[in-house]
Formats: sequence, structure tokens, C-alpha cells
Amino acid sequence: MSRTLTGRLVIATHNPGKLREMQELLAPHGIEAVSAGELGLGEPEETGTTFRANARIKAEAAAKAANLPAFADDSGLVVDALDGAPGIYSARWGGPEKDFVMAMGKVDAELNARGAVTPAQRTARFVSALCIAWPDGHLEEFEGIVEGQVVAPPRGPHGFGYDACFLPDGYSQTFGEMTSVEKHSMPPLGLGLSHRARAFRQLALACLEG
Ligand code: IMP
Repeated sequence: MSRTLTGRLVIATHNPGKLREMQELLAPHGIEAVSAGELGLGEPEETGTTFRANARIKAEAAAKAANLPAFADDSGLVVDALDGAPGIYSARWGGPEKDFVMAMGKVDAELNARGAVTPAQRTARFVSALCIAWPDGHLEEFEGIVEGQVVAPPRGPHGFGYDACFLPDGYSQTFGEMTSVEKHSMPPLGLGLSHRARAFRQLALACLEG
């Protein structure tokens, strides 16, 4: 049986963009979201080897420190021909400058170096793992996936990270050519396509009222 979320929730992020996105999603359900940053909580080391493990580490640390339910996410791009890289290191591939034009170039170069040049050899997926941890140890975990392929050169002005090099299956536009509303929002507003949208939808169905 899933546990319903009520009242205050800590968002285990120091990223203002992620906090805003979550506050917008949760406000209609009567949840007041405060960030780990606002509460002065530290950032635990992400020592897990999976998205799920890292989301859990962040949520559990925040729930314990704040004595409130806490939410965390972890996400990234998994490329089959690169044995799953950049995967949990997706953010790190952007380097200290968070240069994802460079990171997308590196993904393309590594695929070429392995002779992965056809669309069938360049399959990839975005993965989003979400975790809500309660101070009593209860956990709710969700995962959203969107399958596609890596294209080069990157296409489109929208989005962030690896959006411009990711072509979702069944579409002719990369995530970089879709607006954020098209990519993340649910129909009828958008396509509800993204890994994050898919994971949030599961979370909302299981843990949110209204
Ligand atoms: P984290 O989940 O904040 O650790 O970072 C995940 C990294 O994966 C981001 O810095 C992006 O580079 C990449 N990523 C995750 N989701 C997306 C997405 O929807 N579009 C493009 N890149 C993404």
C-alpha cells in the first residue's frame, strides 16, 4: 500500500530550478515544499551505482536531518553502445563549466570511436529515479524511462543537458526541438514524454491526493 503525502515536504536539492519545478507540481495537491538549501541541510555524497540508489541516499539523508518527508531525484542519459555511460555521471560529463555542448560532442566521439554510426547502434534512454523517504524509514520509489537514440549534430535551441542530441522513439524532433511544455507536460498541454514526467505521473498516482 502506497503512503499518501500530506503537509510539508523537503525537496532534497540545492538547485533552484528543480525546486521551482517541484513546488509547481505539488502546490495543487496541498503540499508545501521547502528546499534542503533553505533548511541549511548539507548535501550527502552520491556514492550509489544506480540512479535509484543515489535518489534514495539524498532523500533519506534529508528526511533524517529535517525530520520531515523528503523527496529526491536522480537522472541521466544511458547510451547502450557506451556500456551505459554517461549514466549516473551525466552531470559530471559536463565538467565544472556544465558544458553540455562539449559533453554531447564527447558522447558522439565515443560512439564513433566504437563504430556506432547507424541509428540502431546509437540507442539510448533518459532515466529518472524519484524517491520519497519518511523519517520512520518508509520509502516510495518510482522510475520513468524514455527510449530513443543519440543524433549528431545536436538539434534545437530548447531544453538543457543532453536534450539536443536525444531523439525519442516515434518522433522526428529531438528534445531540444521541443518546448519544455511539449516535453514534460501531460496531454492535452504537452506530450508527457520525458522520463521525469513519466516518473512524476506514477508518484502523483501513488502518493498525492486531489
Ligand atoms: P542530476 O539528476 O541533477 O544529477 O543530473 C542529471 C544530468 O543528466 C543533468 O545534468 C543533465 O545533463 C542530464 N539530464 C537529466 N535529465 C535530462 C533531460 O531531461 N534532458 C537533458 N539532459 C538531462
